[in-house]
Formats: sequence, C-alpha cells, structure tokens
Amino acid sequence: MKNIKRIVFKVGTSTLYENGVLSERMDKIVEFLSNLNKNYEILLVSSGAVGAGYTKCPLDKTFLENKQALAAIGQPLLMREYKERFHKFNVNVAQVLLTAADLDSRKRTEYAKKMINVLLKNKVIPIINENDSVSVKEILFGDNDQLSAYVTYYFGADLLVMLSDIDAFYDENPKTNKNAKPINIVEEIDDELLEQECNPNDTFATGGIVTKLKAAKFLMDRKIPMYLTNGANLERVQELLEGKQTNGTLFMKVNK
Ligand code: ADP
Repeated sequence: MKNIKRIVFKVGTSTLYENGVLSERMDKIVEFLSNLNKNYEILLVSSGAVGAGYTKCPLDKTFLENKQALAAIGQPLLMREYKERFHKFNVNVAQVLLTAADLDSRKRTEYAKKMINVLLKNKVIPIINENDSVSVKEILFGDNDQLSAYVTYYFGADLLVMLSDIDAFYDENPKTNKNAKPINIVEEIDDELLEQECNPNDTFATGGIVTKLKAAKFLMDRKIPMYLTNGANLERVQELLEGKQTNGTLFMKVNK
C-alpha cells in the first residue's frame, strides 16, 4: 500500500486471551509492532483489561460496576505485560486512556493529537484504551472497535488494522456456518448489516462483527482503509503493506 505512514492496530480480547490466559500471540504482536515501528508510526488500541482483571479477581461481569472495577484492576496488569515485552525490543510505550469527551470538540481533539504527535515523534508507541472505570454511559465509546476508528481518523492515521480471531469478514458468521465465504474487499456496507445484534465471540469481548463494520463504515466514509485479519497471521499485514493482499478483508472505497 502506498502513502502509509501512521498505522493504528486494534487488538481484540479474543486475540490476546485463550481460555482466560494471555496467549503467546502477545509476544508475536509485540515483536511485529516493534519491527514496524522502525519504519512507520504505530499506535495500539488494546482490549483485554477486563480479562486481565478477572484473572486476579473473578467478579461477576454482568454488573456494570464490577466490569468497571475489573477494568481498573486489569489495566495496569495489561500495561505491564506490554511494557515488559516491548522493553525487550528497546521500544518505549505510553498509556493513553480516552473517553468520547476527549474527542468531542475540535479543540480537545487537537490537544490530544498534539500529545500523540510528541509520543510518535519520539518513537514511543501509545497503547490506547477506553477510560471506562468511572465513566458514565454518555461519554463512553462503548467498545474498542469504534474507539480505534476514531483514533485512526482524529489522530491522522492512514490505515487501521484490526487483529481479531477470525481470518476475514465472511458472508455469514463462520463460527456457526461452515459454508461461510470470506470477502476480500468490501467497498460498501449496507445499513441493515449495521443493525444486527452484537455478537462477540468471547464472554469478555464487547464487540462482535457489527461494531467492526461500524468502525469500517466510519472510516470508509472518510476515505481511510481498514484491514481486518487474524491476529495469529501477522505476515498478512506485512504483505498488505507491501501491496499484496492474499487474505483478510480490506474495507475501502475504491475511486472510480
Ligand atoms: P475481538 O475480540 O477481536 O473484538 P469479537 O469476538 O468481538 O472479536 O468478534 C469477532 C467474532 O465475530 C468472530 O469470532 C465471529 O464469531 C463473529 N462473527 C459474526 N459474524 C461474522 C462474519 N460475518 N464474519 C466474521 N466474523 C463474524
């Protein structure tokens, strides 16, 4: 892909955790991002704080205040996991916690962007998450899929890469329909697809495919590409950056 300089990666809970335990995938993702950081500006939106909190304190997540408490317990644990791994590659990271209110006016967005620019200029990777432990619903993004789309647009990135536990966007849910077929390029998203119920794969996940499609639509309307692929197959992201797309789904309006 041409003219790509600043890239946002979004890592889903289902990519980071397997049976509640942090998977080896985090090692691979960190190594991959550390290498890319040499030639690109990298931002990371990471889920997983609630899952990390649950490993220390198994509270009932059906209560909002418990979920918020788990996020508060888990966020520093998640950051420590990242920090230690990135340290091996001599990459510094920063924690950035955002609520929707931080991006709700041009002025506030500008402040946040200036700070992000300082981090990126100094090759520090911002690890971004929703600051949801004391937030009320009105100022929440709701899930990291949409947060990552806003971060991509408002912080001037050229591409959003979503790493999930599925290889692509399929014409049907691949977990329930064996005959589902992957779609390589999506140029248009029907509104009716966005009205489906959310269907996350994991009990810790909040998104599912619908929030990914919403994120994609937000970016497509602003002419920014989004690539959805499996967090276990990072070489596909490399291929995409080199201009070859062999797999995954690229959401992009093609100029005709
Ligand atoms: P993450 O933790 O990466 O955000 P989610 O579990 O929230 O991932 O969302 C990914 C899940 O969405 C997949 O594992 C799959 O079960 C489900 N899904 C539903 N419909 C589709 C579809 N049409 N194409 C791909 N995945 C789908």
